[in-house]
Amino acid sequence: MSYALLRHRDVPGIRDFSVYRDNDGYRALERALGLTPEEVIEMVTASGLRGRGGAGFPTGRKWSFLPRDGRERVLVVNADEGEPGTFKDRELLEHNPHQLLEGILIAAWALGAPASYIYIRGEFREGYDRLAKAIREASAAGFVGTHVAGSAFSHSIHVYRGAGAYICGEETALLESLEGKRGQPRVKPPFPALSGLYGLPTVVNNVETLMNVPLILVSGPERYRRVGPAESPGYKVVSLSGRVARPGNVEVPLGIPIRDLLDMAGGVAGGRSLKAFIPGGSSMPLLTPEAVDTSYDFESVRRAGSQLGSGGIIVLDSEACIVDAVRRVVRFYRDESCGKCTPCREGTYWNAEVLERWERGLGREADLDVLLDVSNNINESSLCPLGPASTGLLVSALTHFRGEFLEHLQGGCPLAPNHRLEVVVG
Ligand code: SF4
Repeated sequence: MSYALLRHRDVPGIRDFSVYRDNDGYRALERALGLTPEEVIEMVTASGLRGRGGAGFPTGRKWSFLPRDGRERVLVVNADEGEPGTFKDRELLEHNPHQLLEGILIAAWALGAPASYIYIRGEFREGYDRLAKAIREASAAGFVGTHVAGSAFSHSIHVYRGAGAYICGEETALLESLEGKRGQPRVKPPFPALSGLYGLPTVVNNVETLMNVPLILVSGPERYRRVGPAESPGYKVVSLSGRVARPGNVEVPLGIPIRDLLDMAGGVAGGRSLKAFIPGGSSMPLLTPEAVDTSYDFESVRRAGSQLGSGGIIVLDSEACIVDAVRRVVRFYRDESCGKCTPCREGTYWNAEVLERWERGLGREADLDVLLDVSNNINESSLCPLGPASTGLLVSALTHFRGEFLEHLQGGCPLAPNHRLEVVVG
């Protein structure tokens, strides 16, 4: 197989400028600079590319939302990957940074942005160092700075390291943090397209999203669209973790059956059977084995009852305890709630408290309705997506595995001591 995004697996050393350039690097940028910004936006819109950070919003449409009111425009790159079970941007950043820079430069040209800001997760030390080196190399070669590739377009790229808060992956909290404030989500509207970084019109794009952009410029939108289903075209890097034989990232066309993705990870570890899987990182509802032939694309996963999210599949096998998996995920969101709004701050705390009590063998059947009630309040009244993210796994587990919760009332976990699920965090 040849890779479009994980190109370092085909071309060793491609993170170095000379190797990237020798393998057609920055040709897509040169092509874009020969087009008008409007033509580039039209190409990205026609390609059907959708954001790879979680929401799946069409990228070309997002770019076209910026008002033409004479204000300076800004591109912000969300490299604050922190969703448990998702570790694709980390590999992309560390091994193929020039493709990200090329995508940034094309997007900046299309948007008319003189500067872009990469907000990188603080723990990605290696990714930061390699990105900084790639920017220095691209600057020395004339692709970043004044007169990009000899054109009239000038662009500077700045890298900002986060400080470990999961909530800064939410775009408005990220903007607050970039401005030097506490990283808490803003009330929307206004949306970043109208009032983003320092009140300027701003586009926030994910790393993987931008790395698809050079592919569209090189192949053309029609050819790009031939990969994957009509509503979810293109390539996707999927992180596979939990109880699989070979955890890691795979690159596939969107629309591949989830069963094939699990096979690429060597199937369920130890020859055990599949109990459930979370298809889009820890914030999404789980699905049961009946959904394993679902196509892995935005619409199909949603129709099956979950979401593709950030593209991280977490597998639970027959020996994994659902109650323990839910408890650990809910505790994560309790710890990462920024505390700005009451339903999430208090709700995640109380859901975690109840589940900790179950872990100690002190659960009560009535707790299950309390968990659903609290989750409902969180979902309806939270300010940002973290609130609902904290309840997706919990509510779906109570729907599909209520019996397993009740079994815990008969003397603790029936699956101990093999029940703990390993979830890769970054
Ligand atoms: Fe903060 Fe949670 Fe409210 Fe989001 S939902 S603003 S994370 S308290």
